[in-house]
Amino acid sequence: MKHSSSPLVTASPSLDVETVRAQFPILATQAHGHPLVYLDNAASAQKPRAVVEVVSDYYLGKHANIHRGAYLLSQTATRLYEEARERIARFINAAEPAECLFTRGTTESINLVAASWGMQHLGPGDEIVLSVLEHHSNIVPWQLVAERTGAKIRVIPIDDAGDLQLDVYYRLLSPRTKLVAVGHVSNALGTINPVAEIIAAAHAVGALVLVDGAQWVAHGNTDVQALDADFYAFSGHKLYGPTGIGVLYGKRRLLDAMPPYQGGGDMIERVTFTETTFAELPNKFEAGTPHIAGAVGLAAAIDWLDGLGLEAVAAHEAELLHQATARLGEIPGLEIKGTARHKAGVLSWVAVDPPISTLDMGTQLDLEGICVRTGHHCCEPLMDHFGVTSTARASFGVYNNHDDVERLAIALAKVFATAHRRLG
Ligand code: PLP
Repeated sequence: MKHSSSPLVTASPSLDVETVRAQFPILATQAHGHPLVYLDNAASAQKPRAVVEVVSDYYLGKHANIHRGAYLLSQTATRLYEEARERIARFINAAEPAECLFTRGTTESINLVAASWGMQHLGPGDEIVLSVLEHHSNIVPWQLVAERTGAKIRVIPIDDAGDLQLDVYYRLLSPRTKLVAVGHVSNALGTINPVAEIIAAAHAVGALVLVDGAQWVAHGNTDVQALDADFYAFSGHKLYGPTGIGVLYGKRRLLDAMPPYQGGGDMIERVTFTETTFAELPNKFEAGTPHIAGAVGLAAAIDWLDGLGLEAVAAHEAELLHQATARLGEIPGLEIKGTARHKAGVLSWVAVDPPISTLDMGTQLDLEGICVRTGHHCCEPLMDHFGVTSTARASFGVYNNHDDVERLAIALAKVFATAHRRLG
């Protein structure tokens, strides 16, 4: 298949995308008789063979429960689990591995902070600042804690491009602000938020900041210390790793002072019926048998992705976004939602003329083997802002190539042409 004629369509100098693709057996499969074009990476990324093999080797030859075994196999599993934590700490530049807690994913990481830190620190009159761009995972946990504590939620608005209105944000901040919780990248629009600036402004009024990094970590370098983030949450499955594993980074002094989120085995120092004392970090926040294979697989995914170089990954995905924006922009009646200057590889659109439902577009693209997401993307307040109930969304990963974008553009143009014909 031919590439677009757009001058932006050039191969990334430092990323050999065909070599990358060869490591993902799923990309060689077909859907409805067409080669698969997977453009739903913001929902979940596919897994390279290297990650699947590490998980499989772990289960086939190294598995035992961790932290409690006197025997070699348990010690091996414990070592692998803790080495995974060390790998994650290096990946996000945490000051120490104990600041990286394993969770089930971004959702659980945010719920942990809301339930533990939020219930301990929030009260009537306190304010939590969110933004219109947030995923429901970074809204609902705060609503639950606000309801229980009497705290209030304030919301940073966005402009029509999908950028946060920072001037309004600065005015929202006050001594009442106790926490700002914002996404690093919008999953629905791709906007990259200026998190360093957001954090500095929040700190100036004494507020903490939680960054939802679900849509960032696979697409650029993360340095939690340089950002000065108080909490940083992300999921393994969007990072080419397993499902059911994620990370909550928190500064030690904050995590040390927070009560446990869940009680159970492994998170205690001593239990009696009159008094229980808790383990040190990170165990205090990891009750029960964790997803050991998930942690090991996540570390393998990070090794794999870091091996490609996140700068090269970002440059490649920026090219795909450019190409897709140009090609979809050529389709009359298609309106792109989210035109911020700094965007990750996410493209959302609606059909204005003819008015084709996003589900219809998604279904017709599926028949051509193209996977895009349609719906509200767990961002209903954002959809409300644009006066729509859903968008169609293509989101790029490191293995997508220019042919993927071209096939999307051609198939979509066909969907529009068919609808035009049908509607006369
Ligand atoms: N935050 C953002 C920005 C997301 O895009 C997602 C998932 O799409 C989440 C949070 C929730 O992630 P998970 O379902 O892995 O917990």
